[in-house]
Amino acid sequence: MADSDVPRIARRVMELILRHQRKGQRTGDCAHTPCPACRDAHLHRVERYVAAGEPVRMVLPAFPGKSPNTAKVLGVLPDMAERLALDFLSGLTGRIREVYAPGAEILICSDGRVFSDAVGIPDEHITAYQREMQTLIDALPRPSGLGLFNLEDLPELAGLGHDRMREVLTERYAEPLEQLRKRVRAGEETALYRAITRFLFEDGNTPGYTGSRAALQRDARARAYIVIQRSKAWGDLLADQFPGAVRLSIHPQPCGADKLGIHLVETADNWLTPWHSVALDTGAGGFVLVKREEAEARGAELVREGGRPSHYALRAALAA
Ligand SMILES: [Zn+2]
Repeated sequence: MADSDVPRIARRVMELILRHQRKGQRTGDCAHTPCPACRDAHLHRVERYVAAGEPVRMVLPAFPGKSPNTAKVLGVLPDMAERLALDFLSGLTGRIREVYAPGAEILICSDGRVFSDAVGIPDEHITAYQREMQTLIDALPRPSGLGLFNLEDLPELAGLGHDRMREVLTERYAEPLEQLRKRVRAGEETALYRAITRFLFEDGNTPGYTGSRAALQRDARARAYIVIQRSKAWGDLLADQFPGAVRLSIHPQPCGADKLGIHLVETADNWLTPWHSVALDTGAGGFVLVKREEAEARGAELVREGGRPSHYALRAALAA
């Protein structure tokens, strides 16, 4: 294509992505949609792909595995909640293909293996979840524009046990925990630390938990540091593996940051992720993500597909 088209096409691609930007709720950043500062922060990467006539590659650390808390989710395997997110992400790559024929690829870099021990998900469950994610992606209309990448996909880790893989990741990429603790105490990464601590506390506060809230809170704080440490190590490894890719995140990011927060489902006001929730068919407005206990409290009925629990539906949706 003509060189003069590259900036124009790259801007259109960025604007399609930024329609789904996940913005901080309190910061007041990014007042415009699309936000020009956030667009410009990533534009040069997109321009490089467009100038080369290659698909625009995006890297998204997400979809670790289902929360172990059955008050939030239906089980271990991906269900309608993940299907909605994969449909949505695949749809985004399709819209990009309409303005730029080589299209885009979103590489979902599951962080489940990276911190399964710290979030209390057995490695077998991570494996089963990832396998089913691949099956769901394979079932999408082609090209789906989606790919999966896991810790065990690194050739140099082949054949190692899962614990050893995490050790190698930590040795090569992790910030020392003591240094991370100091930074959090000094006010850095506070929002992320609080969010992860809350998730770990909720996920440990299951009907079967018999200890004290204070003990659970202490434990959640200690594990939150490990989750953040490994997540950052994973992010650094991905930057090495996929230099030049646009780095997406499920968390809101500061305006103009080198990571871009995006939503995973069309209902943009929702902060729940598919792996911390269930899909609820509301009838009128389609699906929303809610905690399983909320779907049940609203009297929704469980819908099974392929012999497995898939999602919930309100009666109005079932009657339609
Ligand atoms: Zn911005």
